Amino acid sequence: MTLALGCIADDYTGASDLANTLTRCGLRTVQAIGVPSDDLALPKVDAVVVSLKSRSIEAGLAVSRSRAAEKWLRGHGARHVLFKICSTFDSTEAGNIGPVMDALRADSGDATVLVTPAFPETGRTVYQGNLFVGAVPLNESPLRDHPLNPMHDSNLVRVLARQSKSKIGLVDLADVARGADAVRARLAHLSKNGFGAAIADAVFERDLETLGTVALENRVSVGASGLGLGLARALVASGAAKPNPPSATSGAPLGGPAACLAGSCSQATLQQIASAEARMAVLHLDPNQVVAGKDEAGRALAWAKDRLKQGPILIASSSTPEQVSALQARHGRDTAGHAIEQAMADIAEGLVQFGVRRLVVAGGETSGAVVDRLEIPGFLVGAEIAAGVPVLAAVGARQGPMLLALKSGNFGGPEFFSDALKLMR
Ligand code: ADP
Repeated sequence: MTLALGCIADDYTGASDLANTLTRCGLRTVQAIGVPSDDLALPKVDAVVVSLKSRSIEAGLAVSRSRAAEKWLRGHGARHVLFKICSTFDSTEAGNIGPVMDALRADSGDATVLVTPAFPETGRTVYQGNLFVGAVPLNESPLRDHPLNPMHDSNLVRVLARQSKSKIGLVDLADVARGADAVRARLAHLSKNGFGAAIADAVFERDLETLGTVALENRVSVGASGLGLGLARALVASGAAKPNPPSATSGAPLGGPAACLAGSCSQATLQQIASAEARMAVLHLDPNQVVAGKDEAGRALAWAKDRLKQGPILIASSSTPEQVSALQARHGRDTAGHAIEQAMADIAEGLVQFGVRRLVVAGGETSGAVVDRLEIPGFLVGAEIAAGVPVLAAVGARQGPMLLALKSGNFGGPEFFSDALKLMR
């Protein structure tokens, strides 16, 4: 198989976001969890997004993991590789964007790498090298107080220059607005003058389409989902990829029992659970018992076993903000969170043993715990249930074919659980 596009993402949720964006642009896309094994049976796809957790680890490790991902992608025919970073350029003075970019550039032989975190649909724009988050520069946005990587400088030419061994230039909006030839000319000028990378301005999606077109002529680019959109549209426009409607299944319904798990305590999820009470059997775990080490997972599975035969079920740990605060005050936030996540993973494992092959999970961390426990190596991304939440078909899972929906807390409308199950047949 020859991939039209290979991507390396520096965190999991960013990878999902990119895979969903590529799918919406018509590329059949698999999100792989970590670097796939060589024997992973991939369906025929246009793009693979390798999800790493390399944003906040030591730079040397981020480089070696990214290189391993690149090697796998090149080995599967990817001519162009996008290193996917956060649209707010989350990084520290030590990296990891610069060191990974330098390594990928050295491997690829590219003269000057295009870099842009712009993603206008989420309010991230770049002008004169300065990143804006909505109406304010990055260093005035909430990112200035980020616990892991506070961003104190909105000028990305300077930020990247501090992280990279090469000189960093700028492709400004005037050139981008003039089109692909002007960008090519600017890049040629920068290359001749020894610039190893350039921050590219982009304010509108058409700017990203221009940048995507030019980036594809190189082997490596660095950007957020916005550049993914530009690359995908350029691939479709050039005929290098044929647009596909998003579909995570081969068409035949999977059937069998279906279950939902909710570990998110967000306002949206609490409302979705309340709405689901009218449509399916719902069990509320006792979070105090979970944290006390009682076998709530066992109780939930005993409750689920026969009910699953009658229709979908929902098991929720979620409680109101007051109850969450009280539990956290008693046990500590991390201890409580971890215990509940592990109980959810136990329940997911048990449900799959009962034959469940359609699983909806609400909560980002909760989803991570479930996917890790089920050891699913990757997902083919399908149609969106709600904005940003697609149906996922497991790829290479030991359980065989399986459909999942993994939702961050605040996503989805009030009927999210039944909306999801309607698309997961
Ligand atoms: P979201 O996407 O809404 O942030 P997450 O799953 O990422 O949801 O995070 C929710 C966290 O809260 C998880 O660590 C989960 O285990 C924990 N949690 C779930 N239910 C409760 C509860 N009743 N009390 C305290 N913490 C809870």
